[in-house]
Amino acid sequence: MNAEIISVGTEIILGQIVNTNAPLLARQLATLGITADRQLAIPDQHDLMVDAIRAAWQQSPLVFVCGGLGPTADDVTLAAVAEAVGTDLTVDQDHWQWIQETFVERHKEMMPENIQQAKYLTGGSPLKNAVGLALGSWYEQDGHRIVVLPGPPREFKPMVIQEVMPRLAKIVGQHVQITSRTLNFFGRPESQLMDEIAAVTADLTGVTITSYVQPDAIQVRMTVRDQPQDAASQLLDAAQVKILKKESPFFFGVGDDCRLANVVVQLLRERGLRVTAAESLTGGMFQSTICSVPEASNVFDGGFVTYAATAKEQLLGINPQIIEKHGVVSAETAAQMAEKSREKLGVDVGLGFTGVAGPDSLEGQPAGTVWIGLAIAGQPTQTKLSHLGAYRGRQAVRQRSVQTGLQMLYQALTK
Ligand code: ATP
Ligand code: MG
Repeated sequence: MNAEIISVGTEIILGQIVNTNAPLLARQLATLGITADRQLAIPDQHDLMVDAIRAAWQQSPLVFVCGGLGPTADDVTLAAVAEAVGTDLTVDQDHWQWIQETFVERHKEMMPENIQQAKYLTGGSPLKNAVGLALGSWYEQDGHRIVVLPGPPREFKPMVIQEVMPRLAKIVGQHVQITSRTLNFFGRPESQLMDEIAAVTADLTGVTITSYVQPDAIQVRMTVRDQPQDAASQLLDAAQVKILKKESPFFFGVGDDCRLANVVVQLLRERGLRVTAAESLTGGMFQSTICSVPEASNVFDGGFVTYAATAKEQLLGINPQIIEKHGVVSAETAAQMAEKSREKLGVDVGLGFTGVAGPDSLEGQPAGTVWIGLAIAGQPTQTKLSHLGAYRGRQAVRQRSVQTGLQMLYQALTK
């Protein structure tokens, strides 16, 4: 089946925000064999929207209209869709009641316009919003379907995954069966990884392999079409075995939602280990990443942000002569930060992050030079030098440093 995605928003047209919703939806649709072969962005202008939606509705069996479901005057999507497909809007009374109660609970004043967020296309059905106020809409007529979704990505994604995909799977499932599995890798350039995977799976037919770069992983998705579940699983198993025979040092888990931080926290937990860190350029970002994992308290008590050399000396008790002799961005300082943080808190694992976030160089070392230390009780302390200058910008260097620390820890825990 083919689909059309219409992204609504003047901000998108003007390039003020990057449209991440349409690619996310297109990727999801592709897993069901639905190709979003027409994609359009339009400003929040009623007449333009009605024209574009009407044209799409006439020529495509499946149309998505994304964004502009808020209560404000510039959110005119639902009214435009209703006009384009020739229906009205209905208030979902239960949802409207819930919105009113939500405002009371939050001690916030509700605007009469908020009722817009409880409306859906008359004759269609509302789609639940797991994190926001506005309902989505699903509407069908004469074999054509139109789906209206909210703009904020944190609302958009769950609605696509939880509400839209199961409905589409039912429709598409009658025609084509898709089975897929995602493998997660780190520490390998995408093109190299995919070239190697293509070589080791060359003799395997029936499995399509694609890759997506995420901030913390390269996701490799294997897809089998038109096969019964058992046969599809066997094909995926065979592909996975071939891929991991070559790439297992860079592999850390299966699943679209598999995150390296979650895997590391789980491994620490299984081994009964607690972790801490002393962070200079990352300023607490490693610890914050660990804390973002539910139940991090099983493996993390606290740690240190030691940005300046004085803080490294005062909070961690690092000998100033070490910093003076080797420099603040050095293997010796990273090792000391890892060891001292571990000792101070009396835990099993300590990491030390020290480096040049940039844009300026430091002690003659260019931006992106990062040393990470890893101290594990009873083992020699490791240090690793990374040159992250190619990741442009302070934030990218810092995030990359956190990922590198997680990778070191993962490798040490799975050795
Ligand atoms: P709200 O109630 O927040 O206004 P809405 O459904 O009306 O929700 P929009 O007004 O279209 O959504 O967008 C709200 C915000 O969501 C935008 O300012 C932008 O930050 C983000 N957003 C909207 N569309 C996209 C998109 N296609 N890709 C990425 N971000 C988007
Ligand atoms: Mg809006």
